[in-house]
Amino acid sequence: MKHNNPWLKVQSQLQKAGQLLGTDRLLLAELSEPERTIQVSLPFSKDDGSIVVAQGYRIQHNSKRGPYKGGLRFHPEVDIDEVKALALLMTIKNAIIDVPFGGGKGGITIDPKKLSENELEKLTRLFTHRLSNVIGPEVDVPAPDVNTNPKIMAWIVDEYSKIVGKETPAVVTGKPLDKGGSLGRTEATGLGGSYALLEMLKKLNKDPKDMTVAVQGFGNVGRFIASFLQEAGAKIVAVADSKGGIYIPSGIPDIETIQKCKQDKGFLAGCYCVGSSCDIKNKEKLKGKDISADDMLTLPVDILIPSALGNVITENNAADIKASIILEMANAPTTAKADEILAKKQITVIPDVLANSGGVAVSYFEWYQNMHDEKWSKEEVFEKLHKKMTDAVNNVYTMSKNHTVDLRTGAYMLALERLQSR
Ligand code: NAD
Repeated sequence: MKHNNPWLKVQSQLQKAGQLLGTDRLLLAELSEPERTIQVSLPFSKDDGSIVVAQGYRIQHNSKRGPYKGGLRFHPEVDIDEVKALALLMTIKNAIIDVPFGGGKGGITIDPKKLSENELEKLTRLFTHRLSNVIGPEVDVPAPDVNTNPKIMAWIVDEYSKIVGKETPAVVTGKPLDKGGSLGRTEATGLGGSYALLEMLKKLNKDPKDMTVAVQGFGNVGRFIASFLQEAGAKIVAVADSKGGIYIPSGIPDIETIQKCKQDKGFLAGCYCVGSSCDIKNKEKLKGKDISADDMLTLPVDILIPSALGNVITENNAADIKASIILEMANAPTTAKADEILAKKQITVIPDVLANSGGVAVSYFEWYQNMHDEKWSKEEVFEKLHKKMTDAVNNVYTMSKNHTVDLRTGAYMLALERLQSR
């Protein structure tokens, strides 16, 4: 079992919120283990003829509010406790953002960066086969997560449709547009996070234009939140991915050009961009510094946004964090011990189950459009997303004020109240 076991952390948060709220003991018992745990063996042959046996998981945590819903993660560190924790987070998150879904999560313990496209497709199709009798539009609806993307979702739809004998786009969300995806899904998690942050800043009487921001992780979530917050007037001073990043105290001029630079090079370290020229030679001009993904967590900024993996804010670095607000765009980025340290420092933590729920909100919009044969415009999607995020922030904030608890506990209490009423 890993140090900082995420499943135990989320369980203890949930039980604490349940006790404060006086939640029915039967409901707490129902949530204390997944309804169903699926583990599958995935033997496949590599292009060179060698055989690899990967392990895959799907955890169906709770279906009280509707079909299980949650992403699929392909990563060498995926293990069952992590997937269980992420599935429980989905049960909580889907209740907070108020979509008619329960919570699920899945993954394969594999490094997809070491696979050819052919191998990745073979593995994904085999995983779909293994799960085909436990997923479906009204049963369990997977989506992308770390290292999975619309192309992988399209393979799943194709394989599942062949197995059940009819085209079934609603079996997953996060699909490419021409395969039944929704406009706005790609940006949804980052945009939703920026809506949530801006709403919370209003409550804290703070203006985004006065705030400096550091974003760890520059994938689907990190690059969009950085870009939307820059648009809202915040000063983004640091961004990093797994290979390191850049710190420009006076503000990164344009996140979009950094994204293009990363796309061209494959990583963003050294992406010092002025106009369309992205070159390490600009570093001096911009008074920039190279920075590691770990060091950026303790920079002197107002807002810190972890947008990569879990367990990055720990008892080892929490005391050194200088930001006054942490927006948890990654799932479970803060360990239980770190949470206590941050609370003592009176740092406002906008929890993952609220901050990153924009992704599943638009996943719900995608599923709804598939089920009702509708196509919504991007404006319509963003308008609905804005309402979902601001309502969720207001409800979590009110709950935490009414019970004098932190936002994470308030968020869990709101979810429990909604689960209880089913
Ligand atoms: P992604 O695979 O697109 O991007 C992950 C990013 O994190 C990459 O830039 C990668 O280089 C970086 N990274 C990996 N290891 C790192 C490290 N040790 N230090 C710094 N950076 C590192 O994944 P994503 O979809 O952007 O997801 C990021 C996080 O957001 C995950 O925790 C995921 O569970 C969560 N999340 C994603 C969505 C979604 O819609 N994609 C929704 C809710 C939550």
